[in-house]
Amino acid sequence: MKLIKNFINGEFVEAAGGRLFEKRSPLDNSVIAQVSEAGLPEVNAAVAAGHAALEGEWGRITVADRVELLYGVANEINRRFEDFLAAEVADTGKPRSLASHLDIPRGAANFKIFADVVKNVPSEFFEMATPDGRGAINYALRRPVGVVGVVCPWNLPLLLMTWKVGPALACGNAVVVKPSEETPQTATLLGEVMNAVGIPKGVYNVVHGFGPDSAGEFLTRHQGVNAITFTGETRTGAAIMKAASDGARPVSLEMGGKNPAIVFADADLDAAIEGTLRSCFANCGQVCLGTERVYVERPLFDTFVARLKQGAEKLVVGLPDNPETGMGPLISQEHKQKVLSYYRKAVEEGATVVTGGGVPDMPGALSEGAWVQPTIWTGLGDEAAIAREEIFGPCTLVMPFDSEEEVVRRANNTTYGLAASVWTKDVTRAHRVAGRLEVGLVWVNSWFLRDLRTPFGGAKQSGIGREGGVHSLEFYTELKNVCVKL
Ligand code: NAD
Repeated sequence: MKLIKNFINGEFVEAAGGRLFEKRSPLDNSVIAQVSEAGLPEVNAAVAAGHAALEGEWGRITVADRVELLYGVANEINRRFEDFLAAEVADTGKPRSLASHLDIPRGAANFKIFADVVKNVPSEFFEMATPDGRGAINYALRRPVGVVGVVCPWNLPLLLMTWKVGPALACGNAVVVKPSEETPQTATLLGEVMNAVGIPKGVYNVVHGFGPDSAGEFLTRHQGVNAITFTGETRTGAAIMKAASDGARPVSLEMGGKNPAIVFADADLDAAIEGTLRSCFANCGQVCLGTERVYVERPLFDTFVARLKQGAEKLVVGLPDNPETGMGPLISQEHKQKVLSYYRKAVEEGATVVTGGGVPDMPGALSEGAWVQPTIWTGLGDEAAIAREEIFGPCTLVMPFDSEEEVVRRANNTTYGLAASVWTKDVTRAHRVAGRLEVGLVWVNSWFLRDLRTPFGGAKQSGIGREGGVHSLEFYTELKNVCVKL
């Protein structure tokens, strides 16, 4: 049986006391690895290793050398592409076709893009007059914040972890990563990459475990952690914010969503269907940016629902290695039970199940896996639980609307504010609606098209702060003004 260890100060270590937890395959619920659960001593050691690295060579390295090392990390991930792909697919059960196009390449790109940002970003300079006529100059310096705690979810494990670790290291910080207990492998593998390319010991550390009363809580409460960046559920983000308040440490939070798609009757129907199918069902609906509410202008409603149903029913639910597979399982039995509870609730509240609503027939051992059917509902309104609460599964409620005013109001009527898609050929309307939606990201006639230089984050309870491009620098550096009297 594979043993997944913590990575502390450049070494793979088992936790003192030998506490282990099981990692199960989403495909058939079999145990695929044992994971060493870090306790307080390991978290202490990881944080101390981070500080030691900052006081050592890593704290003195030039930007140019740091950039070179991070390019090395990206290249090494790409060189070991198949290892990362196998690890990510084993942990998540997602289609290889998806992970090989999205998770792993983006995992590598996150190091390159932020190395480039840090290399090219200028600082500020202001010249000022003084009463004695000699003047003064001001310039700003960016300095690392210190040891950054990185707490990650399971849905896009390598991609979302490196989205934080890339900029954190590019800015000269050290990190302690707490991957999701569901997906321990790629973060661990990245430790091998760090050693191979010569990232100094202690710059990148990984501690495994759970949230409360485990590595997650130990890390976020640790006063040696200077800033905390988190991706996951809103409820967890709130708990982490409380932990961070002790010591007044900054947080960057990327949290849940209940993202709407708005389809106007003049939309390019083929594109809207293709985009909406992806936004509802890609990664088995486990994408924070995914669509769980679709508002369709009434004249198009019946046609749209019929086409979406057709598309959902064509999706091949299957094993990762099958190139035809469009959808894999959910991450775990626990998450399957949560998603199925919403499938039941939808029916109890009177939804029309257009397609799906249950568990697909899977042969043999796969019947033990976390499979659910892609599901489309109609017949309920904004007050239904499936319209309000984040389900994080392959399901969506489709609702008709009659006017732009109405649909903007309904789309905004949620505590979340992560993303939205707007489908229309009317350019003026697209800009107008995009401007009025209370979200961090709007896609017009597309979904999940990401330029990594642009701001990323959520409004309302979907997030605090923005990352991406220069915006990441705001979190991962302290901007210091130096004023020189001439
Ligand atoms: P989660 O909140 O359950 O767990 C995320 C991480 O937090 C895990 O590593 C977990 O162990 C840890 N954790 C849990 N409780 C903790 C605590 N009290 N203290 C410290 N750490 C703790 O989220 P998840 O189920 O892994 O991921 C799915 C959620 O993530 C969804 O809500 C989804 O919308 C959200 N998400 C958001 C974004 C975004 O960019 N906004 C991206 C991906 C996922």
